[in-house]
Amino acid sequence: MLKEAEFFERIEDKRVRCTLCQRECLISTGKRGFCGVRVNIDGVLKTLIYGEVAYIAVSPIEKKPFFHFYPGSTWLSLGTLGCNFKCPGCQNWDIAHKVPETMEESDIIPECNYFTPEDVINAAKKYNCLGISWTYNEPTIWFEFAYETSRRAKKEGLLSNYVSNGFISPLALDTIAPYLDAIRIDVKGFSKSTYKKIAHIDDFKGILSIAERVKRKHGMHLEIITNLIPQINDNENELKGIAKWIKQKLGSETPWHITRFYPACKLSHIPPTPISLLERTRELAIKTGLEYVYLGNVPRHPFENTYCPHCGKILIERHSISILKNYLKRKICPFCGGKIEIIL
Ligand code: SF4
Repeated sequence: MLKEAEFFERIEDKRVRCTLCQRECLISTGKRGFCGVRVNIDGVLKTLIYGEVAYIAVSPIEKKPFFHFYPGSTWLSLGTLGCNFKCPGCQNWDIAHKVPETMEESDIIPECNYFTPEDVINAAKKYNCLGISWTYNEPTIWFEFAYETSRRAKKEGLLSNYVSNGFISPLALDTIAPYLDAIRIDVKGFSKSTYKKIAHIDDFKGILSIAERVKRKHGMHLEIITNLIPQINDNENELKGIAKWIKQKLGSETPWHITRFYPACKLSHIPPTPISLLERTRELAIKTGLEYVYLGNVPRHPFENTYCPHCGKILIERHSISILKNYLKRKICPFCGGKIEIIL
């Protein structure tokens, strides 16, 4: 559904600047921004995808992945069309790289089903979800719908989380933050050249600032993820840089998920990440001082589990996105009494 955008500035000649994400697209009338879902109609920026759901599922929080936020809980997960990144190895390229053809209020987007915020909230309640997860593609691009739904959901006792690339503008983050409970941010590399290669952006520092703002200004639960792609973002110095930054700026208790890449989209020629590379990266992160470093997309690997950083005993045993055993009843290790930073 077509709706006026929340964040934009009018400039001369009916052009607008979108200020929703850090790309800050300058858009002439009749044109769209980089994400393909925001259009300038006669000097007014509009979103094409308010309420337009391209994918919906009930899934465990571990699928996002969040491992330290209500482990084992169930979430109504939603995605739309488009993205403000066009990553060549995107696992959800079938929706994230697609944009609606519509430009009129009356047009139907064939790939989507229209939901109101109430429809989403009712569905979350019907399926006994703890809340709503804005995921699959970058949730920032349908800000107006995520904001309105999360705001109303909070009143109904439901939580909300964002699975994000962190490229949201600080103002948009500050606006939605009171209605979000957790964010998982993707840190794809630690250099301009890696981010240029993957996300076609000139500077990645704004993404790091958003993660720091989530944690320090908003006190929100935060987890970091890096999908490790051979030849693309496997530089050891950059990976060390991510680990050091997490420790210094976010805290050693912040979970870091290092996930295995599988060939997809324009990177179909690149083989899956060697497990030895994932293990080496985890080792360097632990040596840097991070307490919770997980390997993802490697079912049955021991580093899917949560270990007590004090005594080393298993606290939560996992198989992929399923929890096999959870020994935690409180935020305290039942074996040594050490403090554990997991929201239960
Ligand atoms: S949300 Fe879309 S239109 Fe707005 S700045 Fe980002 S990419 Fe550009």
